[in-house]
Amino acid sequence: MTRDASLDEFLDESDDEREDGEPDAGEPDATDGPPTPADVEPARSTYTWSPGGAECAACGATVTERWRDDGQQVCADCKDWAGTPD
Ligand SMILES: [Zn+2]
Repeated sequence: MTRDASLDEFLDESDDEREDGEPDAGEPDATDGPPTPADVEPARSTYTWSPGGAECAACGATVTERWRDDGQQVCADCKDWAGTPD
């Protein structure tokens, strides 16, 4: 038995335990699973995310992200970011 060999084994085992334990201990919210677009969408009702792409009502471009603008779902380029009074 050599001191170097036993030291390496100890360090390797210690490192493995830390990798397994840190994610759960550091991120308690992760137990509920990662956030998904479906979870985020209700919080931002003006925003729609379409995984397969959807047509912009204004310019016809196929985009994955659209925003409600004057009652229509439009792409980022067509969205009036300056804000239109309702
Ligand atoms: Zn557009």
